[in-house]
Amino acid sequence: MPADPSVQHRSAIVWFRDDLRVADHPALTAAVDSGRPVVCVYCFDQVSADVRRLGAASLWWLHHALAALDQDLAALGARLVLRRGPAGDAIRALVREVDAGAVYWNRRYDAAGIAIDSALKTELKAGGCEVKSFHANVLYEPQAIRTQTGGPFRVFTPFWRAARASGVPRRPLPAPVAIAGFDGAVASDALEDWRLLPTAPDWAGGLRATWTPGAAGAQSQLARFIADGLPNYADERDRPDLPATSRLSPHMRFGEISPFEVWHAVAPLALTGDIGHAHVEKFLAEVGWREFAHHLLHHFPALATENFQPAFDAFPWRADEAFVAAWRKGLTGYPIIDAGMRELWATGWMHNRVRMIVASFLVKHGLQDWRAGEAWFWDTLVDACPANNAASWQWVAGSGADAAPYFRIFNPVLQAAKFDPEGAYVRRWVPELADLPAKWLHEPWKAPRSVLAAAGVTLGATYPTPIIDLDAGRERALAAFATLKAHA
Ligand code: FAD
Repeated sequence: MPADPSVQHRSAIVWFRDDLRVADHPALTAAVDSGRPVVCVYCFDQVSADVRRLGAASLWWLHHALAALDQDLAALGARLVLRRGPAGDAIRALVREVDAGAVYWNRRYDAAGIAIDSALKTELKAGGCEVKSFHANVLYEPQAIRTQTGGPFRVFTPFWRAARASGVPRRPLPAPVAIAGFDGAVASDALEDWRLLPTAPDWAGGLRATWTPGAAGAQSQLARFIADGLPNYADERDRPDLPATSRLSPHMRFGEISPFEVWHAVAPLALTGDIGHAHVEKFLAEVGWREFAHHLLHHFPALATENFQPAFDAFPWRADEAFVAAWRKGLTGYPIIDAGMRELWATGWMHNRVRMIVASFLVKHGLQDWRAGEAWFWDTLVDACPANNAASWQWVAGSGADAAPYFRIFNPVLQAAKFDPEGAYVRRWVPELADLPAKWLHEPWKAPRSVLAAAGVTLGATYPTPIIDLDAGRERALAAFATLKAHA
């Protein structure tokens, strides 16, 4: 039967979610290729059941990412329609309003998102609307990477080996040259009315000074990293005092750059000889940890709220609000911890090594439930990611998949001496200690009085005394862990 030409006059909706870009966006490309007028929409859904409400730093990022996407779409001839409320209702209403003949989106893999998408797909298809979803936001989809018995992987190395063996990630798609936008009137919320930015007080100055949300910001960050960070990545990625990592995490979180774009910008460099194979492989493996976390969340939807290893359900966490408050504020008396927590507060980001050190300190020396730390990171990180954050906290706590054993307890002083050897990182974020010599910087409580006085430091007044004795905290953590083993 010949195709009914009038069908193409009905519009195609492209539903943007955590893929706020125009390049390598298969749903957008399919809509443009369909020849239908295109309606681009983002739905701010903070109300549907099981959808996790975004934290404050994420809301700040989202505002700017949506503004940037709207500009990118406008340059191609389209605009971004903003809707708010339960996503299923919003898309259903829009389909009616623009008489859409097709709805396209890129797939997501969390249980709440899948539930919304599947119900909508079934309903719209039954109503005669074409619905297509695409693979775009992870390199390997969860259903494609399974163990030999068909289950999910619980250990990273075999997971990554199986993923790599399944094939080379596809090449990224170019951005459309132009978009034939829907020319009827479509109501849209005003971004400002969503009030995503902090006003009273406006605490986002450090975020503005640090980041350029949006796809253009992501691409320049990637270019900077390939030029300056990647050539030494494997050796320097653990150094918070050096700009050695990509800082792509918030851009990847909101999908301003796709993992396929990152992959194909970096992987071929292993063959050029200019950048060592080891640096490229190490970086790709970190992107692999992102994949692993997303697969884990898919298979274990309660990753942010329940122990991945149920044995930890009996763990004797302490509830100590004062300890958690000092940790959050960066006032623990351990300079590397305080530097990290202040970097987080000021910029919405923290170096990975320091994330591991502060998380270990909270759950081991402090014996605080990892969920308290996960929640604080969720609120304050610009890259707060439902998969990466939950998986990483459980990894540090020992309750997660392929986790660091609980009894491996980071000593923050030794970690600081190793990874911030001259103390540049601590001096930057804990300026009240800046004049201490490197020898005492990471453990000021051991410094002679004269050294402290010369540096203008009065412990307990200008900088806190340690909140806990490291050896005592370590012994207490090991004793708590022993009770867990007794339960097992
Ligand atoms: P690079 O070293 O340049 O890595 C490139 C990319 O790989 C990152 O942008 C990120 O997308 C991914 N990646 C790197 N390391 C990891 C990892 N361990 N797990 C998963 N993906 C990784 N990352 C988040 O994106 N969001 C979070 O909410 C988050 N919470 C964390 C909480 C804790 C307690 C810990 C220990 C780690 C957390 N991470 C999280 C992982 C990691 O710290 C960040 O991805 C990394 O620091 C981002 O910096 P980068 O982009 O310069 O990383």
